Amino acid sequence: MITPPKDCVCMNPPFAYKDFEIRSIGTDSTNGRYGEVSVHTCKKCNSLWLHYIVEYEAFSKSGRWFKGLITEKEIETMTPEKAIKYIESLDWYFYGGSYFDSTGKIGKGFVRVD
Ligand SMILES: [Zn+2]
Repeated sequence: MITPPKDCVCMNPPFAYKDFEIRSIGTDSTNGRYGEVSVHTCKKCNSLWLHYIVEYEAFSKSGRWFKGLITEKEIETMTPEKAIKYIESLDWYFYGGSYFDSTGKIGKGFVRVD
């Protein structure tokens, strides 16, 4: 796993989509959610982030996202359904969105996705 330099754009929220190459992994429909799972590659330091974003249309302020570092090897076997468990297994991850009223904080352990 590449550990990004602390001063890199990918380590300093708020994050901008333009700083990343994005490739889709798919949609996670666990528990009836529509979680969009993708890999964001930092254009500056090439670190890879597994990105998960979900929104519940019926509820305002429900948008939330999570992203954690991942390796190319782990991406090979990653599926949308495994993404949350993977992020929970990390030492830390970023999370944010309107649900958390945050543009990015560091989290660890349980992912409040539902
Ligand atoms: Zn970076």
